[in-house]
Amino acid sequence: ESRFTSVEQAPPDPILGVSEAFKADKSDLKLNLGVGAYRTEELKPYVLDVVKKAEKALLDKGENKEYLPIEGLASFRSATAELLLGPTHPAIKEKRIATLQSLSGTGSLRLGASFIARFLPGTAVYLSNPTWGNHKNILSDSGVEWKNYRYFDPETVGLDFDGMMEDIKSAPDNSIIMLHGCAHNPTGIDPTEEQWAKIADLCIEKNHLPFFDVAYQGFASGSLDEDAYAPRYFLERGLEIIAAQSYSKNLGLYGERVGALNFVLSDSNSAQRVMSQAKRLARALYSNPPVHGARIAAEVVGQPDLFDEWREEMQGMAGRIKTVRQKLYDELVKLNGDKDWSFITNQIGMFSFTGLSPAQVENMTKKHHVYMTKDGRISMAGLNNAKTEYLAKAIDDSFR
Ligand code: PMP
Repeated sequence: ESRFTSVEQAPPDPILGVSEAFKADKSDLKLNLGVGAYRTEELKPYVLDVVKKAEKALLDKGENKEYLPIEGLASFRSATAELLLGPTHPAIKEKRIATLQSLSGTGSLRLGASFIARFLPGTAVYLSNPTWGNHKNILSDSGVEWKNYRYFDPETVGLDFDGMMEDIKSAPDNSIIMLHGCAHNPTGIDPTEEQWAKIADLCIEKNHLPFFDVAYQGFASGSLDEDAYAPRYFLERGLEIIAAQSYSKNLGLYGERVGALNFVLSDSNSAQRVMSQAKRLARALYSNPPVHGARIAAEVVGQPDLFDEWREEMQGMAGRIKTVRQKLYDELVKLNGDKDWSFITNQIGMFSFTGLSPAQVENMTKKHHVYMTKDGRISMAGLNNAKTEYLAKAIDDSFR
């Protein structure tokens, strides 16, 4: 008998578990809107043309497979910092930024959480309610306490801005506030520029440390600069920030695990010391990050023609999502003009938070073969024009 007989079966992951259930469904009608991965109009995974071109260039160069340094590929690290802040940002010139290539968004958040556990012990991280479910896992597994701030208002299917401000205000001074850089997951609801200004005011007043999770830069609006508004604005206000970046969505490098953790600080000495300690943590966690995807990203950003083409492809992906969002809205209005569906077109990014209850979600799945997370989130990236009418009917039926 195994010594592990007392280990209990873990529940399926609330997001990745949806894909498992989808696979098991034999119906032709089935539609997977669970996981946030971009699909083409044919609902197939999409490898960006620039990625194929960069990979070909890399193959021609015949690069070896040696280990990267603990902190990752130098050309990728400078490219990713410049994408986040803009290429001429003073923090880069003044070497006030410590950037480590890490294992996509998740690994970068995890490294940041380990850093908090070691160097800011006892500091709680405040998460929006709701947030991407893995934030809680990452912090809990790193031994970091987390709490919630109010974010979603079910009444308006919009932002509970007053609640958010109250909760950030009543957090102890020097707390860490996790903020979604853009395209909040799961709600698709972002603060306006005026609201970001008030959040920054509060962070200054309370000496809070903002930790930005930037998983959708360029993928939400189609513009790298527009989607980096919030972290850049907080820096402009003189705040120090931590920022995790992911290239899963905007470059479609999901399985390559390409991302970075950035500490943008007030002085270069601190950045240097923080870097040395973050490297030490990374060494024990995974030693050094994967090389292939980082080379792809560096190649794309470093070649002006590829960089332009990447931006076009990002606009294409963001545009397709906006189109199906609009089409879904139109279909829902046709089915029930009495209900206010404007939240669908007000939300941005790949997700829409429908406000469907868990029982209604069950109806979506059991009756209509539409797979989505229990919180009522649907991934617009998994939807195409041809299926919007079917989806609208399923949503309308489930609300009735
Ligand atoms: N943060 C948020 C808010 C996300 O939605 C995601 C992707 N679903 C991530 C981080 C990280 O994804 P990855 O590890 O694939 O980069």
